[in-house]
Amino acid sequence: MDDCIFCKIAQKKITADFLYESDSVIAFPDIHPLADIHILIVPKVHIGALTDLAREHGELLVEIYNVASQIVREKGLEKNSYRVVVNGGKAQKVPHLHFHLLGGKWRKQV
Ligand code: AMP
Ligand code: ZN
Repeated sequence: MDDCIFCKIAQKKITADFLYESDSVIAFPDIHPLADIHILIVPKVHIGALTDLAREHGELLVEIYNVASQIVREKGLEKNSYRVVVNGGKAQKVPHLHFHLLGGKWRKQV
């Protein structure tokens, strides 16, 4: 997708500070953090929204949750608080599927 900000980040046309990168998935800090730790976990392939997911994305979803789990452990969030959020519909501002990992104290609703 030419005009998609997360496709551009995945293709390194826009810079982000990657915590994780594989052939399929990237993770980087949210530019407007709503919690002490606010990481976006994003498939490289353009999937618009949760409702565009299909059975073929199974492996990709396992990788995304494995990345979330790895970051939770690295940041010691098991002993603190964390959640993983997917926004959709009018709550979704960037139309490229992404998973918010929020940890520690959060400031307001994502
Ligand atoms: P959502 O409402 O779920 O679509 O959230 C999109 C998120 O992407 C927001 O929390 C934004 O702060 C974040 N965001 C937008 N542009 C960037 C960027 N260039 N780098 C990091 N995070 C971004
Ligand atoms: Zn995209």
